[in-house]
Amino acid sequence: MIEVRNLSKSFGANKVLNDISFQVKEGEVVAIIGPSGSGKSTLLRSLNLLEEPDEGVIKVGDVTVDTKLLTHQNRYELRQQSAMVFQHFNLFKNKTVLENVTLALTSSKRKTKAEALQIAEDLLEQVGLSDQKKQYPATLSGGQQQRVSIARALAVNPKVIFMDEPTSALDPELVGEVLKTIEQLSKRNITLVIVTHEMKFAKKVADKIVFMNNGVIVESGAPEAVFSQPKEERTRKFLLSTR
Ligand code: ADP
Ligand code: MG
Repeated sequence: MIEVRNLSKSFGANKVLNDISFQVKEGEVVAIIGPSGSGKSTLLRSLNLLEEPDEGVIKVGDVTVDTKLLTHQNRYELRQQSAMVFQHFNLFKNKTVLENVTLALTSSKRKTKAEALQIAEDLLEQVGLSDQKKQYPATLSGGQQQRVSIARALAVNPKVIFMDEPTSALDPELVGEVLKTIEQLSKRNITLVIVTHEMKFAKKVADKIVFMNNGVIVESGAPEAVFSQPKEERTRKFLLSTR
């Protein structure tokens, strides 16, 4: 479902992604872990070209792009394959919960208003927010807002959903409801790539753990392997620091 080859990205003299390659299978849930500043967000944002890498080939779903040969057309096509859930939700403040979910459908997926409403109401029910659909984001808790943004990501029926620290901006008591929503998704054969600091959650929900440090993938593998028997010293040290 995802194939990344030789991805590199610098900000000035700072090489943030250094020749990264990896694959994700259809339906897999991958958790990317690693210290702050290791390049996790840049990697995720590169996969839908919110950051433009300097080099590398990216395949998501049906679309493959060489990042040295980007055009309006292939950039758009690659972005259509995925949806993103951000740490700070990024909802439209002046639109209701329902409008936040229908907007992507009527604008980019060319659904009629009635179709969009049907899909959005169904998804809001799945994330437990039917009663809040007429409200504006500011009147919701952070956990509720993040569940709206998950419904919005699902609405466009993407091949892959990327989530960048979806619970890091939440008050501790609201983390659980969002993790539960993500865990429900993980059981539905949706391909998910999640950057997270929630190690217990990653261990429980992910099929694969990717540990990044300093712009490279230090190691990756099944959660049992990476968490219980990390191969690399750097991974061991990081995992100890999260306890
Ligand atoms: P992580 O998500 O693992 O914390 P990031 O991908 O956000 O790491 O950042 C990796 C490195 O790239 C950091 O050194 C950060 O300061 C730098 N960086 C990220 N975005 C930018 C940017 N837009 N301009 C300059 N430097 C950036
Ligand atoms: Mg980050």
